[in-house]
Amino acid sequence: VNADSGAPTIFDKIINKEIPSSIVYEDEKVLAFRDISPQAPVHVLVIPKFRDGLTELGKVANHLVLYADARHGEILGQLLYAAKIVAEKEGIADGFRVVINSGASACQSVYHLHLHVLGGRQMNWPPG
Ligand code: 5GP
Repeated sequence: VNADSGAPTIFDKIINKEIPSSIVYEDEKVLAFRDISPQAPVHVLVIPKFRDGLTELGKVANHLVLYADARHGEILGQLLYAAKIVAEKEGIADGFRVVINSGASACQSVYHLHLHVLGGRQMNWPPG
């Protein structure tokens, strides 16, 4: 699999409601839903919803670090703001972690940009 191919991922099906997910927050541009394999009592994924044919945005959806540029500041900020909303809704605002696994060596497995919001237990540092 070419990780940066821009091909649709399982998250497109979640965005389109073709497969179910447990949605925590949604607005026009952002979707937040529970991770199917939670690594903490609260483990929510925050993703951009766009798949609108804009190649550069599609690429950013796949791999933040390689393809983001100044035009993407707004959506990147919206994702982080949504992480805050999720933390408050889930009752972990006093202590939580936001993670982006970017690229294979960081264990990215789904190539659609996503923020992990993790909390509800003591988080260790450094991560493995
Ligand atoms: P990554 O390793 O790419 O940073 O994280 C991908 C995450 O997506 C993993 O934590 C994995 O459990 C989650 N995931 C993969 N497939 C699905 C799915 O179909 N539904 C949900 N809710 N989460 C998924």
